[in-house]
Amino acid sequence: MTQTAADVPLVDLKRPHAAIAADLSAELERIFSTMQLFLGPNVKAFQQDFADYLGVRNCVGVSDGTESLYLALRALDVGPGDEVITVSHTFFATVEAILLVGATPVFIDVDPHTFTMDVRALEKAVTDRTKAIMPVHLYGLMADMDGIMAVAHRQGLRVIEDASQAHGARRNGTMAGTVGDIGTFSFYYSKNLGAYGEAGGVVTNDDGLAARIAMLRDHGSEKRYYHDEVGVNGRLDEVQAAVLKLKLPHLDDANRRRRANAHRYSELLKNLPVKTPNLFGDDHVVHLYVIRSLDRDGLQSHLKEMGIHTGIHYPVPCHLQPAVQGRAKISGSLTVTEQVTREIISLPMFPELAEAEIQRVVDGIESFFTSKVSTSVHAAS
Ligand SMILES: *Cc1c(COP(=O)(O)O)cnc(C)c1O
Repeated sequence: MTQTAADVPLVDLKRPHAAIAADLSAELERIFSTMQLFLGPNVKAFQQDFADYLGVRNCVGVSDGTESLYLALRALDVGPGDEVITVSHTFFATVEAILLVGATPVFIDVDPHTFTMDVRALEKAVTDRTKAIMPVHLYGLMADMDGIMAVAHRQGLRVIEDASQAHGARRNGTMAGTVGDIGTFSFYYSKNLGAYGEAGGVVTNDDGLAARIAMLRDHGSEKRYYHDEVGVNGRLDEVQAAVLKLKLPHLDDANRRRRANAHRYSELLKNLPVKTPNLFGDDHVVHLYVIRSLDRDGLQSHLKEMGIHTGIHYPVPCHLQPAVQGRAKISGSLTVTEQVTREIISLPMFPELAEAEIQRVVDGIESFFTSKVSTSVHAAS
């Protein structure tokens, strides 16, 4: 689709490039002069920098976020016969990873105010087959890790945090990804910390788990051509690591700007018939700014006509995906999941979003409701 100058994009990846362009060119020259393309100095530096940023002992760079989830489950020996409690309201990869290791996803509902795992439904979902809990810090907000860890400790369960949408998010002073046994990150190009291609990371305070993950990501081998386990080709490459290393120092500032944009939206939208998200002060990193509308589809097509690009994250919950049929369980009801799926719409959100663009989006939403009122008046007369 061609985008006219007047369009407001959902995400703009071109705007932040200037900040790292010169340094990246120099770094790429160095990489290409040595042709050390995998697990070299940039990967080592980024792993260390990201671990330090989060305040965690280990970060293992991997090829993408889906692989980070898969490797986390493998490292905890989750496999056939095991159940993993997670949410259906997430990107498909969360559930895909559980199915890829041969385990059974058990879905519980989300909290309508946070869009994250409803801890009230958690303990009831535990059976004698449950091995792990996999909360998702969706849209940039951390799930209730205090509540989740309390259940995990009582029940002797492992916890993997899917932090792919929550780089730098906090709750009660802890960083997303550092509370459970393992935290997983995607550095897909549109995430809050994004590479220029595919990339991911696994973080943990457990040195043994980190070593196992590092081995599994490289064909289960520590020494080349000697294989202790069946692993995967899941290495992070030097070019992506160089991008991430240069972008990491900008992450907090970018998150601050996302939050400021989100607060601006919420202020301007407060008198319109849409539900704006709870931003939880400074804890939310607003990967996506998601509002709810009872006429979501109408609103989305109206905005599209005005050149305002929006998204639905996600249009079909995981438990209703064809790929999952007969392979997962539901615990309790997924009423909130199914309801929010019908009402959610993601507005344009990125750090460099301009005040005039926010205003245009809000004007677009306002004009949708004004035109609706006038149509219904006509219809009634
Ligand atoms: C992006 C994402 C993933 C998968 O990451 P990839 O790098 O695209 O493989 C997993 N979980 C969530 C919640 C995500 O948003």
